[in-house]
Amino acid sequence: MPDVEKVVIIGSGPAGWTAAIYAARANLDPVCYIGVPRQNPAPVLPGGQLMLTTEVENYPGFPEGVTGPEMMEKFQAQAERFGTRVVGEDIETCDFSQRPFTLTTNEGRTVKAHAVIIATGATANWIGLANELRLAQSGGGVSACAVCDGALPIFRDQALAVVGGGDTAMEEASYLTKFASRVFVIHRRDELRASKTMQERILSSPKAEVLWNKVVTDVIGEDKIESVRLKDTKSGAESTLEVKGLFIAIGHTPATEFLRDTGLEFDDKGYVRLRGASSHTNIEGVFAAGDVADSVYRQAVTAAGMGCRAAIDAERWLGEQGIE
Ligand code: NAP
Repeated sequence: MPDVEKVVIIGSGPAGWTAAIYAARANLDPVCYIGVPRQNPAPVLPGGQLMLTTEVENYPGFPEGVTGPEMMEKFQAQAERFGTRVVGEDIETCDFSQRPFTLTTNEGRTVKAHAVIIATGATANWIGLANELRLAQSGGGVSACAVCDGALPIFRDQALAVVGGGDTAMEEASYLTKFASRVFVIHRRDELRASKTMQERILSSPKAEVLWNKVVTDVIGEDKIESVRLKDTKSGAESTLEVKGLFIAIGHTPATEFLRDTGLEFDDKGYVRLRGASSHTNIEGVFAAGDVADSVYRQAVTAAGMGCRAAIDAERWLGEQGIE
């Protein structure tokens, strides 16, 4: 390892690996910290959210589809082919107060870097039920992304449910009405949080129905979801709703905990704030890409595009500093 790395990439989803491919091909000799697997309450794995996705059918270049883990394996192989070094540790603290920056890993090792690309992603929030997480991991019809999974054959012409009352829940439910026979939106209150326009899409859809004041208390089904148990938040009454798919849309949490108190700026939702349309953050030499800096699109292909931009921005910035 050199005394000071030219560029350290933190994160190993589509943004991190794409940044690594571009940085390696620009002779920046990148090192990628891929993180350590942990439970949170669903698993958080090196490779990111795609590691919990079964079929990916909307990433260009894979006409037959590809599984999320297989896609991440290919991304990593491509990054390694051009010389990216891979470290299976978490970056736990970052000192951006002086350059070169100092990063510390969960093993207590420090690494110095001229430039840092943050690509740690965001994790979907889950209700936290054991059967919900089990069926999400096994591809049993529970998902946190309707746009990613909703068009799969198992969901076609079936009754499906979306949990949440925000814009994401409305958007996902609206998307699902294209394929499903019926879409239930399960919301814990008697008022939606979503914007009026997004609400209207669902409230006016003949295929959709909002189940007010309801929470999911269990998910039933061995290999595939068969139904959900609901509890009325007002009356306490319990009921069963038969569905062949359950989409959790109760928000995302960007993985930025380790960046608190570094001077880095976040937007009002806690995502890393970027300068204009670039990947530059408010700290010179620190770049961000993918879902950690994007609360809007959150797609593998948009994250990969952002990773590419971060590597190009880092390369240009390093060049300006005389670090080739
Ligand atoms: P959000 O606005 O935070 O909404 C989360 C929803 O999930 C809320 O309705 C909340 O209920 C519910 N919820 C949270 N925890 C829950 C739990 N444990 N059990 C059951 N329900 C739970 O998140 P979001 O919908 O993902 O949106 C995030 C941001 O992106 C928002 O600013 C949104 O406007 C934006 N966005 C915009 C668009 C668009 O304009 N096209 C699309 C998607 C997202 P309560 O309402 O009771 O708190």
